[in-house]
Amino acid sequence: MGKVSMDEKNRIWMLRRRPVGSIRDGDIEIVAQPLSSLDDGYVRVKTLYISIDPTNRIWMSDVDGYFPPLPIDGPLMGGLVGVVMESKDDAYEPGQIVMPGLSPWALYNDFQAEELNSLPVLPGVPTQAFLGPLGGTGLTAYFGLTDIGQPKEGDTLVVSAAAGAVGSMVGQIGKIMGCRVVGIAGSDSKCKWLIDVAGFDAAINYKTEDLDAALAKHCPDGIDINFENVGGKNMDIVIGHLNDFSRMPLCGLISTYNAKEPVPGPYNFANLLMRRTRMQGFIIIDYLDQFNDGLQKLAEWILSGQIKYEMDEVEGFENIPAALDRLFDGKNIGKVVVHVADI
Ligand code: NDP
Repeated sequence: MGKVSMDEKNRIWMLRRRPVGSIRDGDIEIVAQPLSSLDDGYVRVKTLYISIDPTNRIWMSDVDGYFPPLPIDGPLMGGLVGVVMESKDDAYEPGQIVMPGLSPWALYNDFQAEELNSLPVLPGVPTQAFLGPLGGTGLTAYFGLTDIGQPKEGDTLVVSAAAGAVGSMVGQIGKIMGCRVVGIAGSDSKCKWLIDVAGFDAAINYKTEDLDAALAKHCPDGIDINFENVGGKNMDIVIGHLNDFSRMPLCGLISTYNAKEPVPGPYNFANLLMRRTRMQGFIIIDYLDQFNDGLQKLAEWILSGQIKYEMDEVEGFENIPAALDRLFDGKNIGKVVVHVADI
């Protein structure tokens, strides 16, 4: 680590056009820019890891979601952790590990001190875990399940995309809260990990098993909480097994994010009425004022070994598109991040 030399170039991922379906060559591209000298009051951060999230794909489209669409020819944005390279603010000094809010996908970014958080050093916990189990996806699991799912001892909890960043945490938090936990995932190796490592009670490979029959087998008393990450056909099947007064935290609909046309459904909607299910969509930023409490809980469970996690690391800034594909192809177990640089 050292000072950035004046002739060093920055590289930034830009949105060139809105992808139709999966991201294709030319939709996004890297541009090189000179690094100017650092302005007074700013802190220059070198990116170490970038968080790769399904929502990155949503922000590239023109959907008016919980954030406005990213502008064409503007930088792509996301979560990252980095190291301070140079500081013209007394609050930070070179070498500090920091996490800004949403940031351009760039090798270097300049921030004001109030945009940065210093990361604590936790024994055995790598920096990049603050983008996943100890960051946004861990918090999503924690608040979505505890606040909206309202788990009670003995409840049956079903979670989709169960071996992913959010799903794997949901299931393990559900176990800590005394639930019977059934995960739905897209491969035998994911199902094995869910049972052998994450301690789920059962796991269903929706690509090779009859999901309806498998849910009947593994949830003989019905489903009290469906933590929904996927949507589409699988969600309809799960809705068919909900109990009276069940809860359904609606976290994500990843099966629809690459759709070229509006996706109809759910077809089994009437069952939410018949079962008096409480379904609630949520976005993790709704819980901003409670993040510290959630992080404390997550750190406690991770440090005590009660919660296990995997990081799915892709090497190289230029491989961000390939890293995003892993989410939509279902190749990842745990949290996908791109390793950009070392300290
Ligand atoms: P994951 O790590 O779970 O990766 C995505 C997984 O989704 C894949 O591994 C794959 O697993 C599954 N998947 C992809 N395409 C499909 C499909 N067509 N049908 C069924 N399954 C599919 O990602 P995250 O944990 O980061 O995100 C999970 C969900 O949570 C997403 O919907 C995301 O948008 C949402 N989310 C919501 C937040 C909020 O604030 N509401 C915050 C963070 C995430 P498999 O092999 O099992 O198919």
